[in-house]
Amino acid sequence: MKIGFIGLGNMGAPMAANLAKAGHSVTGFDMADVVVEGVTISASAAEAAMGQDIVITMLPNGAILRAVAADVIPVMDKGATLVDCSTVDVDSARAVAEGAEATGVHFVDAPVSGGVGGAMAGTLTFMAGGSEAAFSKAAPLFDIMGQKAVHCGEAGAGQAAKICNNMILGVTMIATCEAFALADKLGLDRQKMFDVVSTSSGYSWTMNAYCPAPGVGPQSPADNAYKPGFAAELMLKDLRLSQQAADSADADTPLGQAATALYEQFVEQEDGRGMDFSAMLPRFEKRGRG
Ligand code: NAD
Repeated sequence: MKIGFIGLGNMGAPMAANLAKAGHSVTGFDMADVVVEGVTISASAAEAAMGQDIVITMLPNGAILRAVAADVIPVMDKGATLVDCSTVDVDSARAVAEGAEATGVHFVDAPVSGGVGGAMAGTLTFMAGGSEAAFSKAAPLFDIMGQKAVHCGEAGAGQAAKICNNMILGVTMIATCEAFALADKLGLDRQKMFDVVSTSSGYSWTMNAYCPAPGVGPQSPADNAYKPGFAAELMLKDLRLSQQAADSADADTPLGQAATALYEQFVEQEDGRGMDFSAMLPRFEKRGRG
């Protein structure tokens, strides 16, 4: 397949390299000067998109996605497919879908989970929104870049799934960390706390697979001085998107709102930027009730 790939950063570069390694012809573009193995770099987004069967974007946010889409959709062939793998707001995904469909270009929003490690290993999970026809065109590429792709519904459904998942993740990480900090103050050994909770009704992915307490449970960023992993500022980005979506859909999300405020404080006023999102635990350890 002929593929255009726009946004060759931490995630996009290894994803594009994996497509090239699988034998596809990949032409890429990034604002920054980049070199990606097997990928031909062009001078603009429009040049990278022209004449391609599929154009993939992996960009920082919805405003940049809208700007890039306005450049590339007009030069794409009718029947070609635009696949956005960035994490963006649901409204931007839907607006770009409308713009694409109006000119006969298919659109799939397909945000990912799995992080940079998953992008390099080709083990990402894709959560996709768009028509059946559009999804089936992109599916062979999801198989190369990832290990699982779920077709969640119409355009925007992929972004909706991603932010709902990450809102749960942010809230449960905070709950797990505050419970560990409370257990400390009650004199409960952390290993005993893990042994009970990980096999009781308080278990969760954050406790069982990504335990925020160093030396307890499986290896996690807590065992590596809280180096990310999944950085607190990326969690904050996703929580803010969840609240933007909740505002526009008039959904009541009090815990999502509280988690957003806590990560905002942690990243912007405390020492959370650049730390893994599980570093909420040392934050709680230092605090009292007042
Ligand atoms: P990044 O900042 O490393 O990469 C983004 C790239 O886009 C940069 O190289 C930047 O130069 C480029 N760019 C910006 N504006 C552009 C434009 N107008 N035209 C062309 N290129 C442009 O970010 P990343 O970590 O690769 O993340 C990309 C997306 O994936 C984000 O939406 C992020 O939320 C999402 N995501 C990241 C992770 C992660 O662990 N890093 C995990 C899941 C999802």
